[in-house]
Amino acid sequence: MGPKLVLFEPAKPPFFLQTKPNSWFNMMMKSPVKVAVEIAARKKIIAANWKMNLTHREAKSYADLLWTEVGVVNEIEVVLIPPFTAIPALAEALEKSPVARLGAQNMHWEKCGPFTGEISATMLRALDVNYVVLGHSERRRLFGETDEMVNRKITAALSAGLRPIVCVGETLAERDGQRVEEVLKRQIQEGLKGVNSRQFHDLVIAYEPLWAIGTGRTATPEQAEEAHGFIRSVIASVSDHPTAAQIRIQYGGSVKPENAEELLRQQDIDGALVGGASLDARNFARIIRGAVAVSA
Ligand code: PEP
Repeated sequence: MGPKLVLFEPAKPPFFLQTKPNSWFNMMMKSPVKVAVEIAARKKIIAANWKMNLTHREAKSYADLLWTEVGVVNEIEVVLIPPFTAIPALAEALEKSPVARLGAQNMHWEKCGPFTGEISATMLRALDVNYVVLGHSERRRLFGETDEMVNRKITAALSAGLRPIVCVGETLAERDGQRVEEVLKRQIQEGLKGVNSRQFHDLVIAYEPLWAIGTGRTATPEQAEEAHGFIRSVIASVSDHPTAAQIRIQYGGSVKPENAEELLRQQDIDGALVGGASLDARNFARIIRGAVAVSA
């Protein structure tokens, strides 16, 4: 679906009217009741982050099974994000059964050179990889990735034609300390420094509260929606409002078939980044079907 002109008299104010009461945009937007705003229909994006799981053989069987379960999906975008070792086999399998696009879990910001154990954006593009997850909390927490490193990776990915899925999210201590907005704002402002408005269209943001990742504890739809609305307002401040209205923001954190639909029905939730529950192709297929139902 391409961009469309939407004329609306909102029942619930759009995200940019829900931000701080004295923002310059709110002041401008207070008087008109009917507002014509050009927004793109945000196609939902459901991605499977396998983390360090599944061999290249298992990846192939997974793709075959997923193809049998869901076939071609046009209403939403599906992305499989295997470990590096499974990318070539999965790329081959997806050529025959194009049920999903391909993503990678990480990359280095340099093009090539003495960086033992690393993979570059050019290498990923050569394997027809479309997306790359950057700034995942496991990379930040276990491998010391900083906002500055994430920023370098985002810049390199965009220059190479890869679409970054940029992960942001707060810890439980930060949530309990009322610091959610401060943390999200910093991660977005620092991580996306230097990204121009054209490049923003190639980005996906994943809101992944750390306390919900791999814990079985999911953010409530209201908590997630609130964070997504805030993220959109920060994107508007670092870019512009049409860009913020168009950017897709996924939720990640213990998404499973049982809770996916309710989350995906929220106005500002444009997809899901699914870890544990995506390791079983049938489970992931149920999440895809839920997303299709919500998008219909
Ligand atoms: C993730 O790894 O991005 C994730 C959200 O994991 P899980 O679904 O297992 O919480």
